[in-house]
Amino acid sequence: MTTVVRDGLFTVGDSPHLVGGRCGDCGRHHFPLLGTCPYCSSDQITRAELSRRGTLWGWTAVTAPPPGYLGDVPFGFGVVELPEGLRVITRLSHPVEHFTFGMPMHLRIVALHTDENGDDVLTYEFTPEAYDRKIVPTGEAGGGRA
Ligand SMILES: [Zn+2]
Repeated sequence: MTTVVRDGLFTVGDSPHLVGGRCGDCGRHHFPLLGTCPYCSSDQITRAELSRRGTLWGWTAVTAPPPGYLGDVPFGFGVVELPEGLRVITRLSHPVEHFTFGMPMHLRIVALHTDENGDDVLTYEFTPEAYDRKIVPTGEAGGGRA
């Protein structure tokens, strides 16, 4: 069994997405999904599955666990810009030593830790496109990836 760090942040499956909102008045996207637009205060918000791919804007490695954090350290942390024009603060894959500004990144769902029931607790992170190409065996590449 699996559970998620917080309901409503992302979808799981072969093609996971972050779940944000799009404002019907100003047209801007935000994440996570809110009831009111953070830019113009409109309440004309529709749920939007955000792009799975973006570019890297900033990053660091977190080496000491934040309070309440139960996952492994170190882990990557930073900002990814999505084609919708928003920048998402996100966990990143580790190591981060070879990250470069503007690097193509994509979303994936990972197990953060195991809870008291023995279930994997899932979260999202972005990882470089190039890293997955190295990891995925050639015979399995391309299966259902958008
Ligand atoms: Zn708005």
